[in-house]
Amino acid sequence: MPLSVIATPIGNLDDVSARALETLKSVDVLYCEDTRVTAKLLARYEIRVPLQSYREEVHRQKIGEIIALLADGKHVGLVSDAGTPGVSDPGSWLIRDILAAAPETIISPIPGPSAAVAALSISGFPGDEFVFLGFPPHKKGRAAFLKAAMQEPRSAVLYESTHRIEKALEALAEIDPARPLVVCRELTKMHETIYRGTAVLILERLKATSTKGEFVIVISRK
Ligand code: SAM
Repeated sequence: MPLSVIATPIGNLDDVSARALETLKSVDVLYCEDTRVTAKLLARYEIRVPLQSYREEVHRQKIGEIIALLADGKHVGLVSDAGTPGVSDPGSWLIRDILAAAPETIISPIPGPSAAVAALSISGFPGDEFVFLGFPPHKKGRAAFLKAAMQEPRSAVLYESTHRIEKALEALAEIDPARPLVVCRELTKMHETIYRGTAVLILERLKATSTKGEFVIVISRK
């Protein structure tokens, strides 16, 4: 049986494919980041399968466990807290290490939501070519990262946390005050808000509404 890498919703629990639900129901063990987060999704669809966490502290031990289960003919599933595993989350390290230890492992994607693609899809910026940059570094290299993002000849998509969104927009405004941006807050959730305009304009609107939640920034190409 394969290792099924299953995309899950980025907020709205209705955003899960029929195939993802079928796969979640059929796995012998489901590996996830935070079992409490995944348990909520499973409860919503009345799915009962054994959950195992693959968080960083137990990562190494889990690699061996997963390989042994697959060798035993078990169907193993992998999800992250939200969206597509491996997109800016620990799923990619897990898959890398499984392949390093057992290169013949069959790994099959069950595609679905990802915050980056959802944001790009409504940006109105060219999506035929884009770069995904993940999270800017917190300290060292942050200024250079943001500068490089603004110099991209393609649409650039990045993630930012509620703690640093204001600072990120301030930095982007300094680099190029006229550049069109799209900032997506809390996509698919109750407080979903899409801000369009320059960094300064978006910052003003954000402060007037809320800087809480999860954010994706899409930068129009230079
Ligand atoms: N694997 C996920 C994916 O496919 O989108 C991303 C995981 S990463 C650890 C979490 C970051 O994704 C958040 O800090 C935020 O930048 C972005 N994100 C996830 N869900 C979001 C949402 N509903 N609205 C806006 N951004 C979101």
